[in-house]
Amino acid sequence: MHNVTLIPGDGIGPSITEAVVRVIEASGASIQWDRKLGGMAALHEVNTPLPDNTLDSIRRTRIALKGPLTTPVGAGFRSINVALRKEFDLYANVRPVRTILPDYRYQDIDLVLVRENTEGLYSGIEHYVGIGGDPRAAAESVMIVTRFGVERILRYAFEYAIAHDRKKVTLAHKANILKFTQGLFLDVGREMAKEYSDRIEFEDRIIDATAMLLVMDPYRFDVIVTENMFGDILSDQIAGLVGGLGLAPGGNIGRDAAIFEAVHGSAPDIEGRNIANPSALLLAGAMMLDHLGDYEQAERIRSALESTIREKDSLTPDLGGQGTTDTFTDALIRRL
Ligand code: NAD
Repeated sequence: MHNVTLIPGDGIGPSITEAVVRVIEASGASIQWDRKLGGMAALHEVNTPLPDNTLDSIRRTRIALKGPLTTPVGAGFRSINVALRKEFDLYANVRPVRTILPDYRYQDIDLVLVRENTEGLYSGIEHYVGIGGDPRAAAESVMIVTRFGVERILRYAFEYAIAHDRKKVTLAHKANILKFTQGLFLDVGREMAKEYSDRIEFEDRIIDATAMLLVMDPYRFDVIVTENMFGDILSDQIAGLVGGLGLAPGGNIGRDAAIFEAVHGSAPDIEGRNIANPSALLLAGAMMLDHLGDYEQAERIRSALESTIREKDSLTPDLGGQGTTDTFTDALIRRL
């Protein structure tokens, strides 16, 4: 029995998390869910978007499945997702994408992006520079790259590749221009690649060329590792190769905790209509089961999801069907 913190979240969050809980239970995985508040739901009930007892639960279980959270706009709140990443030092953002949709413009895509989640330009060190009478004459954002941060994300990428039977790691960088920050990333990567040279093929590519090749010939990639902002951009790009955010899961992994979620947001425009697609969160749930060692249940869920989508059984409107969250989930559970 695994203990897992469950944060249903906002908007469509509660309905897709309930669907995912039903499917995971039907898969035979044995999970004790500790349901906790987060986001607007928490703000309304306990006056903070990230309550202490939610954090305490994650500290205890060390693993969470999280629905999308709406960050209140303009009220001085920082993003709750960023706060969670910082609190638990979730340094690796892992985004696998695989073709499921039949008839989509690319077929047989099977890629994983490993994004550094704590450093780079997203460190949050920014300020304006006043010149003359203009207090905002210029602005600076500082890109922080540490050997510690680079080593742990690259180590994660190589070890992930081995554990998931992948063949190649591509390091995407901009060391030709950002000679220090990106140079450090590249140097450490090249050095570490030697340790794995008998098991994992390694290449490095400039980020802009990587972006182009991902469109022209995505099949040449397997695992891609990159720094924070480049990873933010590339991860949405690779989601586009398989049909968009509705099928994109993500894992935020740290040494002491891991949080799995869909890449999409709380979709307030379709809240309460029972048409949200639970697939991305379900794929995140399968990643979570892999993380817990329940590989068989994870694989059963992925294959039930794939056949439900390929056979176009009760698809939700975003996938071109007329099904609902409930009928789609029922169809999936029948296949399990
Ligand atoms: P969104 O991803 O919520 O929605 C974009 C579009 O995709 C909408 O038309 C929506 O209906 C559709 N969509 C998204 N998920 C869907 C699903 N599962 N099934 C069917 N359609 C789906 O992005 P947004 O509108 O920019 O953001 C809404 C809120 O979500 C914001 O408050 C934002 O801060 C938050 N957000 C949270 C996360 C997170 O918690 N990880 C991520 C992104 C955005």
